[in-house]
Amino acid sequence: MRLAGRVALVTGAARGIGLACAELFAREGASVLLADIARESGEAQAARLRNEELKAQFAACDVSRKAEVEATVAAAVGHFGRLDILVANAGIVHAAEFLDLEEADFDRVIAVNLKGIFLAGQAAARQMVRQGGGGAIVNMSSVNAVLAIPNQVPYVVSKGGINQLTKVMAISLAAHGIRVNGIGPGTIATELAKQAVLGSEEAKRKILSRTPLGRLGEPSEVASIAAFLVSDDASYLTGQTIYPDGGRLALNYTVPVV
Ligand code: NAD
Repeated sequence: MRLAGRVALVTGAARGIGLACAELFAREGASVLLADIARESGEAQAARLRNEELKAQFAACDVSRKAEVEATVAAAVGHFGRLDILVANAGIVHAAEFLDLEEADFDRVIAVNLKGIFLAGQAAARQMVRQGGGGAIVNMSSVNAVLAIPNQVPYVVSKGGINQLTKVMAISLAAHGIRVNGIGPGTIATELAKQAVLGSEEAKRKILSRTPLGRLGEPSEVASIAAFLVSDDASYLTGQTIYPDGGRLALNYTVPVV
């Protein structure tokens, strides 16, 4: 059990990649606070994990609101006594062509995806510095940090920003023994991907034509990288973003879809 005795906070943990991270961390021995705006499903998932004798609690939290993020870090400390790990994962999409995009939608996506990661990282790191002993933070980026989708303007901007945030956090927090890394998934089979890029068979074929491994990724295939990054196996790794993308970033042109 690589994370025995550690305390982890995962945002956007009611479903998808965040839930997979929370569940794997708990199976690796961590006490986990699942945070999400989706109270009902988040509470149900935490209860499901507790039924399996795992240590899990839920906190309602909108990551774009500073007071809620600070209260969530305090809740992690209240439940479990400290905080060693953060996965800043909550994220949303909004589809609109560049010429049509509304200012409010640009602001909303940036507030959740980019400011939310800053707020969670700052609140968690302040707690880690206060208690001493270092820590590990993972920011959920995307291949869209470096590749653009034309009708996902604020999303791709937010993810590009996250990669720089990961670097600046890593160098700012290194002296405190806090490591900060990013994960940039390709297309993972979740509700978000259904909304953003998997709307039809044709859309799915387009994705697969850009995916050398020939299939979508699973949330568990992102969670396993998060568990590595926050464990002592990655003790000399900081400031990096790792891309579980089925080979997408290595590919020019397309591959045949079977
Ligand atoms: P998802 O939609 O399945 O889950 C996202 C979770 O975040 C939901 O439970 C939602 O309620 C929660 N959430 C939304 N807004 C929130 C807020 N303001 N505060 C707190 N929680 C909030 O999405 P997913 O696919 O699991 O995505 C998780 C992360 O992974 C996102 O940052 C996303 O950009 C990133 N990502 C996903 C893919 C993919 O293909 N699925 C690819 C690259 C990156």
